[in-house]
Amino acid sequence: MRFVIGHISHETNAFSPIRTDHAEFVKRGLFRGEGIAKAYCGTKTHIGGFFDVAAREGVELIPTIAAGATPAGPVAREAYDQYLQELLDGISAAGKIDGVLLALHGAMMVEGKPDGEGDILSAVRQLVGKDMPVVSTLDLHANITPKMVANADALFVYDTYPHVDTYEKGVIAAETIIRAARGGVRPVMGFRQLPMMHAVVFQYTGAIPMSTVFEYVRRLEDNEKVIDICVAAGFPWSDFDGAGYSVVVTTDGDRDLAQRLADEVGDLSWNLRRLFERRLYTPEEAVRMAAASPVGPVVMADVSDNPGAGASCDSVEVVRVMVEHGVKSAAVAVIADTKALELCAKAGVGSKVTVTIGAKTDSFHGKPLEVTGRVRLISDGVFLRKGPMSTGMVNTMGKTVVLNVDGIEILLTEQRVQPTDAEVFRSVGIEPLDKQMLLLKSCVHYRAAFEPLARGGVLEVVGPGLSHPDLNLLPFKAIRRPMYPLDEA
Ligand SMILES: [Zn+2]
Repeated sequence: MRFVIGHISHETNAFSPIRTDHAEFVKRGLFRGEGIAKAYCGTKTHIGGFFDVAAREGVELIPTIAAGATPAGPVAREAYDQYLQELLDGISAAGKIDGVLLALHGAMMVEGKPDGEGDILSAVRQLVGKDMPVVSTLDLHANITPKMVANADALFVYDTYPHVDTYEKGVIAAETIIRAARGGVRPVMGFRQLPMMHAVVFQYTGAIPMSTVFEYVRRLEDNEKVIDICVAAGFPWSDFDGAGYSVVVTTDGDRDLAQRLADEVGDLSWNLRRLFERRLYTPEEAVRMAAASPVGPVVMADVSDNPGAGASCDSVEVVRVMVEHGVKSAAVAVIADTKALELCAKAGVGSKVTVTIGAKTDSFHGKPLEVTGRVRLISDGVFLRKGPMSTGMVNTMGKTVVLNVDGIEILLTEQRVQPTDAEVFRSVGIEPLDKQMLLLKSCVHYRAAFEPLARGGVLEVVGPGLSHPDLNLLPFKAIRRPMYPLDEA
């Protein structure tokens, strides 16, 4: 048996002024043909899961394209059109195949096509016809639309945030499409969209209410007709009519059961909607508490400036408070600031420099800060992931400088990087356990790698930024209304 695989992935924050063009995909990782196996085989990722199942089941995978970019503004139309065409050409050129297995995100907006994945799946469906199995994995932040559901046989959404089950979802997606092609199972879906969306910091699956929803889901999955129950908490900053929370249930041939369970999980989620919000801290509160902790490190998560949600990753408002308080033992990952890092790199390792850092991308992320420090290290920013997320993948921060501002070690990087692996620090010679405080640009993903290191605990900090937890701050134009919590219900 033979299956075409492909991956076109982006999480789009409609409010970001950063255009996600071809260069943005090249920066993060754009692979074709055999390069896909080289990048993903043996990794704990969705596509790594595809390859392992294929090897075990003795089926052939025909790789086409794997394109992913860091979350930002809508994907440039010409880049998207090119990648989609490569996927479709790959399917056409593959000869006789038994299915199309995709790894999509689910919250991609393309210029002129806000439902990116709906567009991909319908284009694939049109090409292969209604009888060919089409299956995709999706991110927990997927904004699942009726068009996506109508054009796929099964959709498999990560159950965890931090996303530590991407590999397992790749495995079940691959197993399901192979079983479907062999006639051993007939996947059908039930689908429920809910009029609610939450800032991603509140979607952490290790705490209520998401943990409650998933406990309930685990019990419903005991039904032998159920293949998978998926809860997509959605990505609120994709400003289009598909944004928001949804539930997809896949069963073996029983559409009524699938719909009934989707409604049941949807109703439960809706009833829990008011439990999503929780107490977060101002930069002032967080730095005071972190400084007073008898043990370090205290992890401070700057949840408003998460590049993994499309923020600019250059707010320095928490750093400003750290400097004002005379913090002497801290590490910051990362401030994306090419201009400042080039100045530091030009001065050279060991030099004392005065530079203005941060707030260069847009008006959402506060004000710049002048700091004086010593350039400790210049690096290419390449690191191997060793933590629980996407283990084994090689990532890059781009050119990277470590600037030591009187004990606060700041990673200035070329790329916007969400610190989801301790190698972000260790690859540039910083041992996170040695610091009193760690400032991380992340909403939830940091927890997988850094909670075990956070002997002084975790503080969620709210500064300015495009992933700010208060959705009322942004001028939504195209989402469905009413939408909780914007329209209190
Ligand atoms: Zn996600």
